Amino acid sequence: MNGTAGTETDVIVVGAGPTGLLLAGDLASAGLRVTVVERRPHGISNMTRAFGVHARTLELLDARSLADELVRTGAPVTRLRLFGRLTLDLSRLRSRFPFVLITPQYEVERLLERRATAAGVDFRYGTELRALRQDADAVIADVTAADGTDAALRARYLVGADGHRSAVRRELALPFPGRSVIRSIVLADVRLAEEPEELVTVGGTGDTFAFIAPFGDGWYRVMGWNRHRQVADSEPVGLDEVREIARLGLGSDFGMRDARWISRFHSDERQVPAYRTGRVFLAGDAAHVHSPAGGQGLNTGLQDAANLSWKLASVLRGEAHDPEALLDSYHSERHPVGATVLRSSGALIRLAMARGPLQRAARALGAGFLDTVRPAATKAMGQITGIGIAYGAGRGAHRLTGRRAPDLRLAEGRLYELLRRGEFVLVAPPGAAPQGPHTPVPGRVIRASWANRARHDTLLVRPDGYIAWATD
Ligand SMILES: Cc1cc2nc3c(=O)[nH]c(=O)nc-3n(C[C@H](O)[C@H](O)[C@H](O)COP(=O)(O)OP(=O)(O)OC[C@H]3O[C@@H](n4cnc5c(N)ncnc54)[C@H](O)[C@@H]3O)c2cc1C
Repeated sequence: MNGTAGTETDVIVVGAGPTGLLLAGDLASAGLRVTVVERRPHGISNMTRAFGVHARTLELLDARSLADELVRTGAPVTRLRLFGRLTLDLSRLRSRFPFVLITPQYEVERLLERRATAAGVDFRYGTELRALRQDADAVIADVTAADGTDAALRARYLVGADGHRSAVRRELALPFPGRSVIRSIVLADVRLAEEPEELVTVGGTGDTFAFIAPFGDGWYRVMGWNRHRQVADSEPVGLDEVREIARLGLGSDFGMRDARWISRFHSDERQVPAYRTGRVFLAGDAAHVHSPAGGQGLNTGLQDAANLSWKLASVLRGEAHDPEALLDSYHSERHPVGATVLRSSGALIRLAMARGPLQRAARALGAGFLDTVRPAATKAMGQITGIGIAYGAGRGAHRLTGRRAPDLRLAEGRLYELLRRGEFVLVAPPGAAPQGPHTPVPGRVIRASWANRARHDTLLVRPDGYIAWATD
């Protein structure tokens, strides 16, 4: 491709979905030059798509001053009723957000885009990435604007947040191994004449399953599947089909009407083997896709972005003592999380589709087991909500290293308020001589002290809210 004069920037982000928007906003807030290339024209949204924002994602949004506003757009749901008797009681979560927030994906994108724009991100809507190449110093992206103009953009790093058919992944010649897990899932946003007993309701027989969740403004998301109606994604779907699936899976269609959005899709389980190739990274759906069970897609992508952004900022600002190791840690921390999400959401969907008597018994047993055995329920809850995610501690590391830092009460305010500055936070006993961490910190450090004067330990919290280092 014959590009026009190259543009120099720090990071090119390909894709203005939720993953790309969070990443771009973080990098620009850290003072870096960021260009976002998005194929869609401005103002054309990704539709409703994902609708559940989990507790850990809300904490990450709290660290960007966006959570409270997002919560006002949706419905917080504390009880997730899964198959049969299985109910997850999210109110037990030790988080400022002990619930899953049901809100359309476009609300998340709206807030993230506003933040990125305010931070100075250069958005190129209607512009498609065609090809890319990299050398020791830079990445060059060949892009075409909607009017057909070609350009070559040059940056220190590039992130492919361009969704499941990622052009960035294709250009890196990376495989996307996996398989199709479920076909012909129908989705609709509807109004209901009668409210289901539980706010979020999931049910199924093995031949069908259905799910209903409220957006909180009178609209409900319905998702369903019928083993006996397996057709191509392009096959039109009518409200009657959705009603039938709901009756089969949940025993009632709750008087569904007025579909404002209705669609059919299939779901794959795939993960790219390398999240980093030199100066190019993959994040969100470009790196992993999985079944919709557990509502993990959007959440996992946002958490990828939060893990990568501070590392790129640290390297680009010249603060990392070992830049290559820090950038590699994006893959070593996030790839296992993606693999776990593939496994757990796959297990949930297979349980929902289980048909034989043995499998049905396993489903009933699994439900009963999880319902009654608290550690299993706590583990499942930690995984689904993201609160339980930790980044593998090294040999000899402190037991808290790599764990999520809760929203600690500090003399200066809440921890997640301090994290809004995008820096490390060193929490020490009040009045104590500032104690340094054992290893150099790859970034700027804000010093804070415990609100509880009886605490004598010291903690270093990373900009993404995970514990880097602690004393007893
Ligand atoms: C019908 C449907 C229903 C879903 N339901 C759920 C759900 O219930 N729960 C859940 O958690 N997840 C759900 N998902 C998945 C969820 O929407 C994704 O996980 C989430 O959008 C991933 O965000 P992302 O930013 O990584 O990618 P995307 O949101 O896919 O964004 C990628 C962006 O890149 C742009 N792009 C692509 N190629 C190029 C290119 N070459 N050049 C420039 N730009 C490009 C695209 O236009 C797009 O805006 C659903 C997805 C679909 C399709």
